[in-house]
Amino acid sequence: MVAPTQITYRGRFAPSPTGFLHLGSLVTALGGFLQARSNHGEWLVRMEDLDLPRNLAGAADDILFTLETCGLHWDGAVLYQTTRNEIYFEMLHSLKDQTFLCGCSRKELQYNQGFYDGKCRHGIPFGKTPRTIRLKVPDQIISFEDLIQGSFQQNLSKEVGDFVIKRADGCYAYQLAVVIDDAMQNITEIVRGCDLLDSTPRQIYLQSLLKYPTPKYAHLSIITNTLGQKLSKQTLAKPIDKKNPLPALFQALQYLGHAPPLELLNEKVETLLQWAITNWQLSKIPHVFAQIE
Ligand SMILES: [Zn+2]
Repeated sequence: MVAPTQITYRGRFAPSPTGFLHLGSLVTALGGFLQARSNHGEWLVRMEDLDLPRNLAGAADDILFTLETCGLHWDGAVLYQTTRNEIYFEMLHSLKDQTFLCGCSRKELQYNQGFYDGKCRHGIPFGKTPRTIRLKVPDQIISFEDLIQGSFQQNLSKEVGDFVIKRADGCYAYQLAVVIDDAMQNITEIVRGCDLLDSTPRQIYLQSLLKYPTPKYAHLSIITNTLGQKLSKQTLAKPIDKKNPLPALFQALQYLGHAPPLELLNEKVETLLQWAITNWQLSKIPHVFAQIE
């Protein structure tokens, strides 16, 4: 691996081991891989396995094996978030002036449709016990320029509210862990699914508090099934055929707005990927994916 000071581009793929790699997650992995390789950069894999109850036994290894059979070879060792509680604890502690304990239950919060009204900001109401740790957010607009989706902005205090950075079950929240790991792994550009677009202002705000640089962002559209649901384990997306991954890679490239020659369907995975690296253009990626049968 190249030393951090020499790196001009470093991307990452950060799956959660809650299921197998399917076409939707392959599109995200492939998009990130091609963007990194066409920029002569590095591409890392991080296993976002903090949500213990949702982890599926064997899924992490299966995802990694599928990436390898698809020719999507990563740089360096895979980082597992479950090994990083010490650093998350340390960084959470450094935010102590901006955080508070919240005693609101999930049921109470549903009345506000996920928006947190700041009830416990000045102390937990009498009779309630602490459940989560939340970060105070300012009344200010946070905006950024996404490389695919264009400009995006959010006022955290009006649209999200003070958000959870340590959960009621003791797990560090995704928003905190992802910001720490992206910074510590020197990630320069994040290519990921559009379902995380509205998490980005929260992450940019955390980066500013922790004095981390803000990477560039490219949010890919999400593949839906014919019912308009995101492809996931819940919507029964089929796992990638590890014995013959070429058709899935070919289809993933089409979703990403690229049209590989049909002859490449008879070639090796490496040949298709080489074509894709040479022909890769971020500007070809559609803002919304068309349905491809
Ligand atoms: Zn509360």
